[in-house]
Amino acid sequence: MEKITAVKGMQDIFQPEVRLWQHIEALIRSEMETFAYREIRTPVLEKTELFVRGVGGGTDIVKKEMYTFSDKGDRSVTMRPEGTASVVRAVNEHGLLNAGEPVSKYYYIGPMFRYERPQKGRLRQFHQFGVECFGSDSPFVDAEVIQILYNILTKLKLSDISVKLNSIGCPECRPVFRQNAEKYFGAVKDKLCVECNERINTNPLRIYDCKTPSCKENITGAPVILDHLCEGCSQHFESVKRALAQIGVPFVIDARLVRGLDYYTRTAFEVTSKHLGAQDALGGGGRYDDLVSELGGQKTPAIGFGMGIERVVIAVKTQNIDLGLGSGLRAYVVPLSRNEAEYAFKLLDILRKADISAQMAVSEKKTGVHFKDAEKAGADFAVIIGEDEIKNGTLTVKDLRKRSQQSVSEAELAAYIKNN
Ligand code: AMP
Repeated sequence: MEKITAVKGMQDIFQPEVRLWQHIEALIRSEMETFAYREIRTPVLEKTELFVRGVGGGTDIVKKEMYTFSDKGDRSVTMRPEGTASVVRAVNEHGLLNAGEPVSKYYYIGPMFRYERPQKGRLRQFHQFGVECFGSDSPFVDAEVIQILYNILTKLKLSDISVKLNSIGCPECRPVFRQNAEKYFGAVKDKLCVECNERINTNPLRIYDCKTPSCKENITGAPVILDHLCEGCSQHFESVKRALAQIGVPFVIDARLVRGLDYYTRTAFEVTSKHLGAQDALGGGGRYDDLVSELGGQKTPAIGFGMGIERVVIAVKTQNIDLGLGSGLRAYVVPLSRNEAEYAFKLLDILRKADISAQMAVSEKKTGVHFKDAEKAGADFAVIIGEDEIKNGTLTVKDLRKRSQQSVSEAELAAYIKNN
């Protein structure tokens, strides 16, 4: 019978890569404790309307990429393509928003679904870590949120990352910019792709995101939002830059950074890696001061980002970064014959009771083959038990990393493994 394979664009994650995932997730959780963000877990399935209103009917995500279907009750539901809309829905629904301080700070880690054309770094099921901070329009909050993303990536020892920063204004300053952008793009419309032609009057900001070479060429001379910021947005932007400089987060201004979603206001940012090729964004986000009210809540300023875990994993692997993760297995217990099996099983239990990750060989093999198995399993030590070892009460412990050997008594075994 034909083998069943995974759905296109969706991947299995297993050893040894899964260790890296666990490390990234643990790092995120520890960083989130430090920054006083609390986890929120929302359902994968939401009402389709949430994303149409929350992400924006004009975005590629909503127009082309959503996994939308009718459930058995004929309700249109969608597998979440991103996290922000769901978190906003949840905090609104459960009355978790304070009008002001203390600000409400949430984070999530989970799968997202977008029906995109799969390629390196672009999947149909991928995972995002994201943070959302509600209740403050302070530029310090913007700086804090950008710092979180920067910290996590640098703690993973990623080099060659670049924090790109822009302000995309607010409903007060964007109309003038929009008019100028419409005028500019209207004049070069013959050189823009079909989609960008549609965007000229519906959402000219999107054109800045277009990857079509002829559009990219014509974006170079286009007006930029930074030249159109109102006094409030301009001051906010200056303060964010100062705050980032104060806490040592390097950044570059990218006046053409607009982000793919409709809901952003003021600060927009993205962190890219030189090691990723075409899909070079590790994460990005921005301020969305109007989204909570657009989804039926009280007007609440907010800011957040989403980081793609698959892309971070690719970047760590491409750069050959050694995070010292190993397999996690410390001891591989080897009884040399059936006669030693019961004693070996007791020893295995002693190690596990001491919280040492241990595994035991259960079939009879040549000693050399056992060692190969131990290495294959990624163990640090092989603990060998033969007739002599039982008689003498000492075990032969082979350090598979250092290729050295030592006799250790049963009583000292756990401590020996812990300390080496
Ligand atoms: P976005 O929600 O589009 O701003 O995406 C935030 C981050 O999620 C991006 O910077 C990527 O790292 C990641 N991401 C977005 N779409 C995909 C995808 N289809 N496959 C893998 N990662 C993705």
